[in-house]
Amino acid sequence: MTSDIQQSALHILQTVFGYPAFRGQQAEIVEHVANGGDALVLMPTGGGKSLCYQIPALVRDGVGVVVSPLIALMQDQVDALAEVGVRAAFLNSTQTFEETLRIERLVRTGEIDLVYVAPERLMTQRCLDLFEDSHIALFAIDEAHCVSQWGHDFRPEYIRLSILHERFPHVPRIALTATADQLTRAEIAQRLQLDEARQFVSSFDRPNIRYAIVEKTNGRKQLLDFISAEHPGDAGIVYCLSRKKVEETAEFLNENGIRALPYHAGMDYALRADNQARFLREDGIVMVATIAFGMGIDKPDVRFVCHLDLPKSLEGYYQETGRAGRDGLPSNAWMAYGLQDVVLQRRMIDESDADENFKRVLGSKLDAMLGLCETLSCRRMRLLEYFGERSGPCGNCDTCLIPPVSFDATVPVQKLLSAIYRVDQRFAAGHVIDVLRGVQTERITQWHHDSLTVYGVGADRSEHEWRAIVRQVIALGLITVDHDAFSSLKLTEAARPVLKGERKVELRQYQKPVKQKRQAGPTKGYVEMDLSPAEQKIFEKLRWWRLETAKAHSVAAFIIFGDATLREIAKVKPTSLDELRVVSGVGAKKLTSYGDEIVAMITEMV
Ligand code: ADP
Ligand code: ZN
Repeated sequence: MTSDIQQSALHILQTVFGYPAFRGQQAEIVEHVANGGDALVLMPTGGGKSLCYQIPALVRDGVGVVVSPLIALMQDQVDALAEVGVRAAFLNSTQTFEETLRIERLVRTGEIDLVYVAPERLMTQRCLDLFEDSHIALFAIDEAHCVSQWGHDFRPEYIRLSILHERFPHVPRIALTATADQLTRAEIAQRLQLDEARQFVSSFDRPNIRYAIVEKTNGRKQLLDFISAEHPGDAGIVYCLSRKKVEETAEFLNENGIRALPYHAGMDYALRADNQARFLREDGIVMVATIAFGMGIDKPDVRFVCHLDLPKSLEGYYQETGRAGRDGLPSNAWMAYGLQDVVLQRRMIDESDADENFKRVLGSKLDAMLGLCETLSCRRMRLLEYFGERSGPCGNCDTCLIPPVSFDATVPVQKLLSAIYRVDQRFAAGHVIDVLRGVQTERITQWHHDSLTVYGVGADRSEHEWRAIVRQVIALGLITVDHDAFSSLKLTEAARPVLKGERKVELRQYQKPVKQKRQAGPTKGYVEMDLSPAEQKIFEKLRWWRLETAKAHSVAAFIIFGDATLREIAKVKPTSLDELRVVSGVGAKKLTSYGDEIVAMITEMV
């Protein structure tokens, strides 16, 4: 039997938000909070956290207060709610005093459903008094990991949020975060006095994201091929390590017909903000950025995230790739990685002024990252395992789709290790490989390396193959890259048993880069909505209409309708309001606002 609360929550989901059913743990969370319970919600990006507090706020009497550190996002959130007919507003420093007074009045009289505030604003006496004078439905604490002093998003004001419990003991609180680890979770519960709260922990898997890591040969060219083949006209993010590379890559993409914008901390502030706004509001822009870009980017239709340089840790990699596919549609996380990346990252750690202890931590984080790059098994399994979650092979990553071939590499690795030893551990990978392959270079003649016994013993392998071996042997820790000016290769203790023939080495066979086919085979976890060419045309038309409409209303394109909704419309081809009403993402208000226009457009096209 379903309770009244469950029924009214489902009714709101369907009529206001236009979604047929709750996802994952949403139903349980909504019911628990709507009934007045406290909750701590851990859900990955794109899991659907917003509805977990928006719907209880609508079910309960009074105003829902949402605490969020991301002032820049409040406008979009309020716009999106207005589009579905929910009365929402925010209180923050970007407003005039008159505007503040107006909103405060609405809160006091209960003529509003949700109000967003930054934590520093909430802690003011004026704001606390306002809420004490008003009827509050619940407090939602978004980005709750900001309370953790160990995380990188620490906000001191968040610690003071425990005051809510003391001043408003009868108002339910729901804290939400996409940060996975146990330690942070415990810290949130303790610092926000949520020990009694029920915890809802979802899987951190993002099944709609396809992970792929390719050997870097010519990164920029490979990137261009990837975008042209798999994502023409899509929105995406390309991460690069340096500002210079950001600029160059953006320019290169533009020259090749892809609309790309640069973003890094060294740019003029106004230009940077402008590029970010365009990325969010327009359709199909590729943002080329350093990792300065991303915190608080809440764009649901980012179709791909690329890394042209190796991230420093799996935490960073997972967070960055997690910005793809929030809307649940198939998306790609693609990385090109090569020997130079390993050398560079190792050198950066060595040269940083961190103490030895911290360097060791950085080193082991990098090792975990390399482990993912060189793994012979499912990438997703590796990732989830790192975050403490067990799973089986996913069927939606490159190693599952085209399983790498491993081979007994003991002999070639021995050749490599002896060559490094014979050149006195004073030369970089390029030279060592030249020696192995028996290449004639000036440097080889100069050092008489052509008279070494190892000269030419590896002529049977290409330079690419040798580079792949060197990289994997570094990842295995048998050799290190010295941080001297030459990046010379050095043997570690672990190399000894291999050289002596006491340890076998299994490596991944080098595979010539092949162009990946789009979406091979069935994958679990999400519904693929392949469009026929005719439907694709409708979809394009709808996207164009969406962009025009968004401009006219001065809101971001995705606030009008998400890609998932537009794709479903293109598939269903509704020629009446009743047919349109059942499409996921079309609620009552949007049906009234846009229904006639869409039905007319479809009728004309079919
Ligand atoms: P999060 O805050 O966890 O990253 P959001 O709340 O922004 O996620 O939701 C991600 C996307 O999923 C949004 O586009 C949202 O409208 C959609 N969504 C959430 N819940 C549902 C649902 N029950 N059915 C369909 N779509 C949903
Ligand atoms: Zn897999």
